[in-house]
Amino acid sequence: MSEHSTPQRVVIIGGGFAGLFAARALRRAPVQVTVIDRVAHHLFQPLLYQCATGILSEGQIAASLRDLFKRHRNVEFVLAEVADFDTEGRRVLARRPGGTEMSFPYDHLIVAGGVHQSYFGHDEFAQWAPGMKSLSDALSIRRKVFGAFELAESAVDPEERRRWLTFALVGAGPTGVELAGQLRELATHTLRAEYRSIDPEEARVLLFDGGESPLAMFGPKLSAKAAAALRKLGVELHMGAVVTQVDEHGLLARGKDGQSTRYEAATVLWTAGVQAPAMAGRLAQACGAQSDRAGRIEVLPDLTVPQHPEISVVGDMMSLDKLPGVAEVAMQTGFYAARRVRLLVEGRDAPKPFRYRDLGSAAYIARGQAVLSAGPLKLSGLPGWIGWLFIHIAFLTGYRNRLGAILTWVYTFAREVRRERAFIAQPIDRSKDIYAPPANPPAKSEGASGGESG
Ligand SMILES: Cc1cc2nc3c(=O)[nH]c(=O)nc-3n(C[C@H](O)[C@H](O)[C@H](O)COP(=O)(O)OP(=O)(O)OC[C@H]3O[C@@H](n4cnc5c(N)ncnc54)[C@H](O)[C@@H]3O)c2cc1C
Repeated sequence: MSEHSTPQRVVIIGGGFAGLFAARALRRAPVQVTVIDRVAHHLFQPLLYQCATGILSEGQIAASLRDLFKRHRNVEFVLAEVADFDTEGRRVLARRPGGTEMSFPYDHLIVAGGVHQSYFGHDEFAQWAPGMKSLSDALSIRRKVFGAFELAESAVDPEERRRWLTFALVGAGPTGVELAGQLRELATHTLRAEYRSIDPEEARVLLFDGGESPLAMFGPKLSAKAAAALRKLGVELHMGAVVTQVDEHGLLARGKDGQSTRYEAATVLWTAGVQAPAMAGRLAQACGAQSDRAGRIEVLPDLTVPQHPEISVVGDMMSLDKLPGVAEVAMQTGFYAARRVRLLVEGRDAPKPFRYRDLGSAAYIARGQAVLSAGPLKLSGLPGWIGWLFIHIAFLTGYRNRLGAILTWVYTFAREVRRERAFIAQPIDRSKDIYAPPANPPAKSEGASGGESG
């Protein structure tokens, strides 16, 4: 048993897959757990593209963290953005919406902050080409996509109409491929009979990637099948093309021959590259840890930071043995870190080093078309799609979301309709943002339970 008379404090940063699995694994441990996230929901990122293209609602892919933890009596949730670390004093420094500073003391810290979209040093592209990492990204892509068809319909100039009907995607990994497939399905099925001036089927979807083929991580055979399926859907593949400039009206891409070509496209979406959040840099600095090129923290085989056995880094934000940034790695590392803490708190031996069990991965291309790779098993076409369905139903968080998604998929696939197409015509006015700091910051708060004002 613990030598402490009061329960030890475990702070978990992030309520994504890694943070959620860590918190759940500690629910019966003799510890007090505080989960801090800057959003109040757990997001099922693998289905963001379905929210962006009108199949699933926000509620079906995002579950309230408070609701998920309501039966875990030793777990509390705090909505705050972590800004810094005091590793000597063992405190996490955070800011509540509105700007008030807070600090959270810990005996054990599990950091699961995920990654951001990387624009490879061109952050200015983000204003024209949203990435796809958060719920607000998905809703802003939904607004851009359905808005583009509306503006094409009312455009008088044929050039302008063509521009609205051209969608350029940067990055041919799973997210870029999934979005490309969805956009062509929208154009050729869902929207087919809805417009009077335009023919949505004329919508062009251009997919750019500096590599040789789409879904290269699935190996040459499945990658070739994915390329063939995309071409059949009408997606124009621009492989070996590096996007060097993005603006309001399109992009510039440099091909293998070194020539740059301009593509006019009113909608540019960015799914290439990831980068650890600023918080990872602060942590590395505070505890002297090494980071890889994407800013992910390098961890020891027990997922802790060198010289700091009380700090674990898990999920996408950690760098270990070139493990991929996928949900399965996040879940397994979150669970392992929590189990390690539990064993130590209970005075038992630390677990053996972390070992990843690769259960495979899948990517959706279109209705009846997906690729799935699990060990020697390689599936594509309809068998791949059925495998994809099972995986996503099994892992979607919360049984209500699971049931809701199944019913929606049956309806969508059978009737070729998409119900979740509402979007706000104007971007949200940032000055009315309730999370924005007030002009005159109030005095420091008295802190939340589990935290203390700093
Ligand atoms: C569009 C998309 C599609 C994907 N498809 C697949 C797929 O098909 N299969 C698959 O296996 N994987 C897929 N992935 C990858 C998978 O979703 C990630 O590997 C997984 O979400 C990583 O989990 P995580 O907990 O490490 O990070 P995340 O899920 O990103 O969670 C990080 C959490 O930390 C919070 N946070 C970050 N910074 C702070 C801060 N400073 N203060 C407070 N909170 C903070 C964030 O709000 C977030 O809730 C996909 C990812 C994306 C974006």
